[in-house]
Amino acid sequence: MAAPKVAVVGAGVVGLSTALCIAETCPSCSVTVLSDQFSPNTTSDVAAGMLIPHTYPGTPIDVQKQWFKETFAYLFALSNSTEASEAGVHLVSGWQIFKNTPTPKEELPFWSDVVLGFRPMSEAELQKFPQHQFGQAFTTLKCDCPPYLLWLEKRLKATGVQMYTRKVADLWELHSEYNIIVNCTGIGAHQLVGDEKLFPVRGQVLKVHAPWVKNFIRDGDGLTYIYPGIHRVTLGGTREKERWSLSPDPGTTKDIFDRCCSLEPSLRGAQDIKVKVGLRPSRWCVRLEKEVSSRGGVKLLVVHNYGHGAGGFSVHRGTAKEAARLVGECIAALQGSSSRAKL
Ligand code: FAD
Repeated sequence: MAAPKVAVVGAGVVGLSTALCIAETCPSCSVTVLSDQFSPNTTSDVAAGMLIPHTYPGTPIDVQKQWFKETFAYLFALSNSTEASEAGVHLVSGWQIFKNTPTPKEELPFWSDVVLGFRPMSEAELQKFPQHQFGQAFTTLKCDCPPYLLWLEKRLKATGVQMYTRKVADLWELHSEYNIIVNCTGIGAHQLVGDEKLFPVRGQVLKVHAPWVKNFIRDGDGLTYIYPGIHRVTLGGTREKERWSLSPDPGTTKDIFDRCCSLEPSLRGAQDIKVKVGLRPSRWCVRLEKEVSSRGGVKLLVVHNYGHGAGGFSVHRGTAKEAARLVGECIAALQGSSSRAKL
């Protein structure tokens, strides 16, 4: 059989990292990325890119932990390489704080032994947050976007992956050109494959200039957070289920800014405030599976990898590796059927 042709649809953090994993694990494949938008116009560009996992209720915790571990290990190595600044990947230390006594799961989250130096905050540290009773200190990683997406694109080009701007209305339209389709369309999968289980959770954030803020602060309810990046600090946020609007809401901007200033009063001096909105592609569980559909006796091999909700950065490399493994299974099946056809 000739080199298998794989199309990855979507160019957010999931699509680009999946295309890279496929190109790395299957060098004989011809990989193409097709997307209607590239950086800086994807949801992934809006994200803070912090590696603090979100829990997917429908995915076993050991699987989520494995995805997070693989992502953390990959980005830790990158943060320790000469490419760290170009890739926008860096370590960041800080605090997750709780107003009320946390539940046992909050007190010792499943990812506590993957991040570095996880420990309860001391009384002295908690004095910084007089409204909060309990907190955790740890060091994690952050991907700045767009630099991380641009770094992935550069790696893909260097490995010979083609990238084209194209809106795909139906995965079947790719059937005659490609052997395997990988669906990494994020919230776009709602329309593309009619997934009713996928819904948007709208998030509004502010990206500000406040270079003196060096530590992250996250309220345990996940609503208010301050995540310093290399050039900008991301202030958040909102979680609005089923709201599709991409227009910034000025009242929300003020509310986010006030909430963040109550945690870090020096932010009152922040400058150059830019407002961004993104739709988290949310689902009970990430859809990471093979699907063989058929029309009139013709088969279409699809690997789905979407629905990463609020945690796409935290698990992207782990889910990309699994998607690449599933693509490998599809290739083995295609090679098996082509050699049977020759007999
Ligand atoms: P996207 O980035 O949306 O990419 C989808 C791609 O598919 C796009 O390129 C799009 O153009 C393309 N596409 C869609 N439909 C079609 C079609 N029909 N034809 C062709 N192309 C198509 N996660 C974390 O881990 N840490 C964080 O700190 C964090 N902060 C966040 C803050 C906010 C405000 C938001 C909104 C999200 C945050 N997230 C965070 C979540 C994270 O952004 C997402 O989980 C992640 O970006 C999803 O990536 P994706 O590649 O699946 O989707």
